[in-house]
Amino acid sequence: MMKRCSCGSRDTRRSTRRGWLERRLLTMLRLKPYRCNRCSRRFFRFTFGNDTAIPHADSNR
Ligand SMILES: [Zn+2]
Repeated sequence: MMKRCSCGSRDTRRSTRRGWLERRLLTMLRLKPYRCNRCSRRFFRFTFGNDTAIPHADSNR
């Protein structure tokens, strides 16, 4: 299932979790990291069906 980026693009793919801390945090919060192929933004999505985008801190815009 494709996730949509906040820029509107559906050209996204699963991103890898970086480091044990992020992995632990994301697992705890049930978030999965995605990467947009169009704007290269990294964002998180909840795994339980909620379609709310959570912009990551390192995405300056
Ligand atoms: Zn995007």
